[in-house]
Amino acid sequence: MIQKFSLVGEKEVTRAIVTEFTAQFAEYVDCDCIVIGGGPSGVMAGRNLARAEKKFSSSNETTTLAVDSGSVAT
Ligand SMILES: Cc1cc2nc3c(=O)[nH]c(=O)nc-3n(C[C@H](O)[C@H](O)[C@H](O)COP(=O)(O)OP(=O)(O)OC[C@H]3O[C@@H](n4cnc5c(N)ncnc54)[C@H](O)[C@@H]3O)c2cc1C
Repeated sequence: MIQKFSLVGEKEVTRAIVTEFTAQFAEYVDCDCIVIGGGPSGVMAGRNLARAEKKFSSSNETTTLAVDSGSVAT
């Protein structure tokens, strides 16, 4: 039988989430633009910023995400 996934526990998952979030947060402390609000206007602003290869972060009331320039499907 082919094993598709490695065996991991909650600790490994938690460490991975915290490590990745911290790295992204540190990276995007310095960016070209911050988009507040992830509605249609914010998403379009993000798309245009990505197309212009600007480094930006996007924040919504319930979630926070960081998007590198050019990493969004445009
Ligand atoms: C009931 C209803 C039906 C509609 N039906 C249609 C339709 O069929 N077709 C159509 O084209 N339009 C429709 N609209 C209109 C459409 O929803 C809006 O025009 C559109 O969502 C506006 O987009 P926006 O990005 O400007 O604002 P929003 O969509 O309001 O996005 C703003 C975002 O900012 C976030 N936000 C707010 N304050 C903060 C803060 N302090 N910090 C961080 N984030 C924050 C909010 O959580 C939200 O996600 C409808 C609207 C309503 C209310």
